[in-house]
Amino acid sequence: MNCLKKLPMRLIANAVQRQQQCMSTGAGSMPPLTFLTDDEKMMKETVAKLAQEQIAPLVKKMDEEHKFDPSVVKAVFENGLMGIEIDSELGGSGCNFLTTILTVEELSKVDPAVAAFVDIHNTLVNSLMIKVASKAQKEKYLPKLAQEYAGSFALTEPGAGSDAFSLKTVAKKDGDHYVINGTKMWISNSDVAGVFLVFANAKPEAGYRGITTFIVDRDTPGLVVNKPEDKLGIRASGTCMINFDNVRIPAENLLGEFGHGYKYAAGFLNEGRIGISAQMLGLAQGCFDATIPYLLERKQFGSEIFNFQSMQHQIATVATEIEAARLLTYNAARLVEAGAPFHKEAAMAKYYASEVAQRATIKCIDWMGGVGFTRDFPQEKFYRDVKIGAIYEGTTNMQLSTIAKQIKKDYSS
Ligand SMILES: Cc1cc2nc3c(=O)[nH]c(=O)nc-3n(C[C@H](O)[C@H](O)[C@H](O)COP(=O)(O)OP(=O)(O)OC[C@H]3O[C@@H](n4cnc5c(N)ncnc54)[C@H](O)[C@@H]3O)c2cc1C
Repeated sequence: MNCLKKLPMRLIANAVQRQQQCMSTGAGSMPPLTFLTDDEKMMKETVAKLAQEQIAPLVKKMDEEHKFDPSVVKAVFENGLMGIEIDSELGGSGCNFLTTILTVEELSKVDPAVAAFVDIHNTLVNSLMIKVASKAQKEKYLPKLAQEYAGSFALTEPGAGSDAFSLKTVAKKDGDHYVINGTKMWISNSDVAGVFLVFANAKPEAGYRGITTFIVDRDTPGLVVNKPEDKLGIRASGTCMINFDNVRIPAENLLGEFGHGYKYAAGFLNEGRIGISAQMLGLAQGCFDATIPYLLERKQFGSEIFNFQSMQHQIATVATEIEAARLLTYNAARLVEAGAPFHKEAAMAKYYASEVAQRATIKCIDWMGGVGFTRDFPQEKFYRDVKIGAIYEGTTNMQLSTIAKQIKKDYSS
């Protein structure tokens, strides 16, 4: 799938298309957030079909085996989901950021683990490469990231989680090479990734201003990916510790500017959070969609469970919260596309969507009764998968701190 090609033109065309659609329905000139362009709709439908036909039958097996089925990995590459915003000239789909968000949402309705794989690859790895890499780096890596292998974003360390910039991995210049030493932890996609974007301090005496980003190929000697962590949820997604033992890489693999790694990590995680928000939104919707038909069918006291008023009020509350999470998520994504400030809105979307998704999965299991507590129904897996949303790409506490910091700034100026 090729979306509208050049970025500024694409943005204008996107806005115009949404506006035209809006006028044609008589809704006025400001398109509602949920109005999608033809390209966005097309990708959403393609992903929903792929998820139902090619992923759904394998979800349970992949969760039990703690790895993706090769056919699923093949399908996401073949359908352009691993290069959503990469230019079509470089083998990508050339779509906009909201399309990435819709893709993650649709995948997550069926399997939040596959959604994590696609999300982190697109919103952190591809995004950073698209916006910061040199022409030569783009030509070398973007076609492969779009069509051949996954990428990993390696920031967190055993001693540096929420306080990410206290990282201890170092990169020392040696002639026309850098030599990387250190340990990264919890790195998604690292079991299968072909390339790693590694944050290392290349000037420790400058503190966090020495943090620099490097492109490291998987087969570089000294890079060891350990066995995947045994996790509560998103078990098919590989999360590993990585050791860097005198990993020697050419100086040309420095990504962007020396000492700007902390800016890239902070900036791109802000965008990435909207992806996690979409993952939680899709998860909540998927769990809800799997539950309501049962409530319409299951009878107790001579009536469908759905018809009890106390049940209806809970169902309506969860449906409203999911819709509110959707609007926060889409709005944050549209702000990114418009080039407007979005940090507070991204943190709000991630915080809220992950809270709503936790509430939704708990409620869905309550509503299902005993069968919701078994592995024969999907609610149990959604309930395990949901917990990660409040942890990675900044915990809930860190999102609330970001929101509060911005509020203080707004009210102090
Ligand atoms: C499945 C999974 C996949 C991941 N994928 C990646 C990846 O691909 N790349 C990557 O770089 N990282 C990844 N991570 C790491 C993830 O981003 C971190 O786990 C997360 O940022 C939290 O860090 P921590 O686990 O060290 O927790 P800690 O920072 O130790 O936090 C523990 C608790 O303390 C609270 N806390 C800490 N500091 C404060 C504070 N100042 N104020 C209030 N509360 C505070 C936190 O909110 C949390 O509740 C992944 C993690 C997991 C579990």
